Amino acid sequence: MRLIVTGGAGYIGSVVADQLVAGGHKVIVVDDLRKGHAAAVPPNAQHARFDLADTAALDALFDRTAPDAVLHFAAYSLVGESVQRPDRYYHNNVTVTLGLLDAMQRHGVRRLVFSSTAAVYGDPQRIPIVEDEPTAPTNPYGATKLAIEQALPWYEAAFGLRFVSLRYFNAAGATDRLGEDHDPESHLIPLLLQVALGQRPYAEIFGTDYPTPDGTCIRDYIHVSDLAEAHVLALEALDHGSRIYNLGNGAGFSVREVLETARRVTGHPIPAVEAPRRPGDPPRLVAASDRIVAELGWRPRFPDLEAIVGSAWEWARRHPTGYPEEDGPLE
Ligand code: UDP
Repeated sequence: MRLIVTGGAGYIGSVVADQLVAGGHKVIVVDDLRKGHAAAVPPNAQHARFDLADTAALDALFDRTAPDAVLHFAAYSLVGESVQRPDRYYHNNVTVTLGLLDAMQRHGVRRLVFSSTAAVYGDPQRIPIVEDEPTAPTNPYGATKLAIEQALPWYEAAFGLRFVSLRYFNAAGATDRLGEDHDPESHLIPLLLQVALGQRPYAEIFGTDYPTPDGTCIRDYIHVSDLAEAHVLALEALDHGSRIYNLGNGAGFSVREVLETARRVTGHPIPAVEAPRRPGDPPRLVAASDRIVAELGWRPRFPDLEAIVGSAWEWARRHPTGYPEEDGPLE
């Protein structure tokens, strides 16, 4: 297939783009590099560098490439930042995505794999979380992803759009080539590894008074390669109907447990200080991924947290300053 991968220079998008290229697809990455890295785009993919809000550029790309499907990763995805700047999240994650859907419709492209998030559930009543759990986001990030999820069935009914929405839990780990490199870094595992590399004096634990056994937040960490494989399966299944799937390992680890794992993996003491809660963080997010296992035959190959952190550590050691510097964003 000919595939447009928005955000394909980012952490998850680049790993998916890599797998799609390896699977023989023709991949066109759209990424303006405001967050992504040119070096993360697969060597055999095309890279169209423009802002997705640029409708004319999008139309020209659809005209030129006639894609069979779109995988839409490009978005802002930080819980804390979304609480501070909901305006940016609504604009980029909702307005720009609706513009992409319009462009798809103008060009008769009716297949979409959409990056959604466990943040749509808010503070769920039942753990592990099934897809039918009520959605009630506790932060603008989750709310903006949910807004698009809620639009998709209407677009399907009216325009025949087929979609698979994948609700990611906590992507982590690295492949040989691709890893996590955000600026500034805000994610737990890369921050712990930066301490182990001597780049930060200590880590912070955001909140120790949550209603969890050790008082810190519990998350379900999933290896980015396993996450990526689910996209390939989703793409293949698109013609059978639209679906929503959770993607996690079904095991929850507290911030303190992740810290202990990082200490074991790196052999570094990783000092940590207790800090206030980060606004918008729900106490516990753990996936039931039975639906995608049963329907698409998805099987995580790295369900073990130690292996996930180990792969991130390998990558961090080989890329202590992340990807090579590239030009700044176009804006
Ligand atoms: N966290 C933390 N210290 C940090 C970064 C994150 O305690 O320096 C916590 C955060 O509050 C959350 C968990 O680690 O409970 C995972 O956060 P991350 O930002 O990695 O992913 P998120 O769950 O927000 O997608």
